[in-house]
Amino acid sequence: MERTLIAHLPQAIGQKVKIQGFLHTLRDQKTMQFLILRDRSGMVQVAFYKKANPELAEQISRLTNESVLTITGTVVENPIVKLGGLEVQLETLTVESLAEAPLPLDPTAEVLPSLDYRLDWRFLDMRRAPVTAFFEIQTTLEMAFREYWLQHGFVEIHSPKLMGSASESGAELFEVQYFDTKAYLAQSPQFYKQMAMAAGFERVFEIGPVFRADPSFTSRHMTEFTGLDMEMSYIESHEDVMRFLENMLHYVYQRVAEKHAAAIEAHFGVQLEVPSVPFPRIPMAEAVEILKREGYTLPPEKKGDIDPGGERTLAQFVRREYNHDFFFLTDWPWTVRPFYHMRHPDRPDLTRSFDLIAKGTEIVTGAQREHRYPILREQAIEKGLSLEPIQFYLDFFRYGCPPHGGFGLGLSRLMMVMLNLPNIREAVFLFRGPNRLHP
Ligand code: ATP
Repeated sequence: MERTLIAHLPQAIGQKVKIQGFLHTLRDQKTMQFLILRDRSGMVQVAFYKKANPELAEQISRLTNESVLTITGTVVENPIVKLGGLEVQLETLTVESLAEAPLPLDPTAEVLPSLDYRLDWRFLDMRRAPVTAFFEIQTTLEMAFREYWLQHGFVEIHSPKLMGSASESGAELFEVQYFDTKAYLAQSPQFYKQMAMAAGFERVFEIGPVFRADPSFTSRHMTEFTGLDMEMSYIESHEDVMRFLENMLHYVYQRVAEKHAAAIEAHFGVQLEVPSVPFPRIPMAEAVEILKREGYTLPPEKKGDIDPGGERTLAQFVRREYNHDFFFLTDWPWTVRPFYHMRHPDRPDLTRSFDLIAKGTEIVTGAQREHRYPILREQAIEKGLSLEPIQFYLDFFRYGCPPHGGFGLGLSRLMMVMLNLPNIREAVFLFRGPNRLHP
């Protein structure tokens, strides 16, 4: 017999079905047994009249929570059953996998253990409905990004994650043994998506892993994360990239809201707001003035940069003044940006770059890139880089390269912001950090 998903049982009233899933709970009463079975689509009550088969009743009594069962039975309407007003009357039962008891983490428990403990037992933690919902939402979100890119003429690339030299700076780089030499794990697809511009692709995107040897223990950093990156040619300035990004996020939020607004409210207590466009734009110089007025003092060592506390203060200001969760911080000082960011022609101390801040957290960095070889080379020298290891990259710009720009967005950062999660460790399938390489 073919398996029926629990969500499809209302269309099978009166029929015999086969259902499969985890035993969520068992209520063993005097004359009746009620099993709540859970599959990826939902939960259903299965009822068994003990006298019908005392031997089977005994087998059911011995079942442990979270065991995997195959059940056949007849679907009957029963208005007093809270779960969908129906139940399955059990005819046969096969135990596919008996769960050991006690469970190290009970997915049905009201009170959760610490996050760290939950990550140790992540596969059990992920049996909880909000976690399942999280990944359904993330799947829609990624699909919406892809849809938008494809609607706008983008081509997908997969750049290598093993590199012979650093992509941006030597910092935050994981070194790996590579036969009798050294390789590095890619800190971003930056160089390669720009290579695609030099190759004439005009518009590319990549969704892939990014590695950062960042030893910090914040609630928004991981040593491995999924980056959503894009690069587009024939732009006039970083403004074109920001416009593309805000329209894309508007589309993505709309798609997620269409499909998951109710689940997001139920599981995360968030009323999803589709952000209006355009997003506010605040040049860095103005941001520093706003922070002064708001009474926020930037740490002196962050000269030219804005620290996370400053980003949160600006976010409160933007919420108050513009009624918006998102804003662009634009025109960052050259001193705090990488060598490949383009400078303003009339203000060489500033770059044509931006960060996107969402609910006080940075989720994107983008810029127009310097595509003119002699200037790019000079900028690398000015930043004190040795040219030899990046010459392969500089070569991209020697034989004709369109003006271009793009950005990198952290998938988990966006999910965290969208669902108001307090920690990025909950916004990823498996967290990787300085102290966590397992499971
Ligand atoms: P931060 O200042 O927060 O450390 P960054 O400036 O180093 O971030 P970028 O190099 O600009 O980040 O990377 C682009 C995007 O990738 C960021 O805006 C963020 O969404 C995401 N990101 C960067 N580092 C991490 C990380 N360690 N863990 C998770 N996501 C990250």
